[in-house]
Amino acid sequence: MIPIAKPILGEEEVNAVTEVLRSGVIAEGQKVKDFEAAFAKFTGTSFAVAVNSGTAALHAALLAHRIGPGDEVITTPFSFVATANSVLFTGAKPVFSDIKEDTFNIDPESIIEKITPRTKAIIPVHLYGQSADMKAIMDIAEDKDLIIIEDACQAHGATFEGKSVGSFGEGTFSFYPTKNMTTGEGGIITTNDKFVAEKARMIRSHGSKQRYLHEMLGFNLRMTDIAAAIGLVQLGKIGDFNRSRINNAHYLTQSLQKIKGLVLPHIDKRCGHVFHQYTVRIRGDLTRDEVVSSLNKKDIGTGIYYPLPIHKQPYYMELGYHDFLPVSERASKEVISLPVHPSLTKLDLDTISEYLHEIIG
Ligand SMILES: *Cc1c(COP(=O)(O)O)cnc(C)c1O
Repeated sequence: MIPIAKPILGEEEVNAVTEVLRSGVIAEGQKVKDFEAAFAKFTGTSFAVAVNSGTAALHAALLAHRIGPGDEVITTPFSFVATANSVLFTGAKPVFSDIKEDTFNIDPESIIEKITPRTKAIIPVHLYGQSADMKAIMDIAEDKDLIIIEDACQAHGATFEGKSVGSFGEGTFSFYPTKNMTTGEGGIITTNDKFVAEKARMIRSHGSKQRYLHEMLGFNLRMTDIAAAIGLVQLGKIGDFNRSRINNAHYLTQSLQKIKGLVLPHIDKRCGHVFHQYTVRIRGDLTRDEVVSSLNKKDIGTGIYYPLPIHKQPYYMELGYHDFLPVSERASKEVISLPVHPSLTKLDLDTISEYLHEIIG
């Protein structure tokens, strides 16, 4: 079986965890602080606040900006549900814009159509490892005085015009095992705003700066030192991991470009794409689901990100969402992600390509 994702964990991670366990300080210790400093440096931001998931990072970033009931937050429906759920958790309302046909990322023109006097923030998602159009989005934010919270959960190391994602607005990253780097479970907020960093730290730990003095309502969103130790090692390898993903993606594109009915990933020239996913569209005689089952029969793992846009999820329908967002809805029926992770061999990549030629070529 060629899996769709595979975390790479070696002796260094094992040793780093062992060191933390032997030290006896497994929470609220130095490793979390070191990981935060290293991650801030990695994204070129002034501050980073480590938490226990990407969802927690999104939630805390919104709360740090006092987003809540009565506010609207514009985002994309073509994402993992956590993006919009983080808005619901605050009491604010997620408002969905459509996406661009070529990059699958939020369409700035559609954002403009959705702005109302209640709009407070925009959450662009850097889907599949490619930055959204941050030039257009930052222009809108400046013009309309809106907060930007980037969902960079799939885009560690991705850039837009040479600048790291997560450094345009507030950044939010996930370290779930299938992401470009992992800590087991984990997340982080990146920011250049001292006030936001301080608020996020308080929200992470029951609203306190000083132990047992609680100035606001918060949660326990803390990352353990065990997780941070893994993260420090992984951060040292993310450059290699991403280079390997990019090389695999280029190899697949070379091998697959002649297949009619297969739309290969589009790279925006302004973007440094880190290929969290290598996602193609099926537009031939076979349906997407037929292609998926043929590949799976040949022991090639596939992913569908995402089979149902968020506004069509049962829970959102129940809330009364009835948007028609044709580009997202069509994409959800046509996309397949193929394995692109760093553990693939050239033989794996050739196998994927050969079978695709056989099935739809
Ligand atoms: C993974 C992911 C999240 C959530 O991260 P968790 O660590 O699983 O909470 C949010 N948004 C996107 C786009 C993701 O891919």
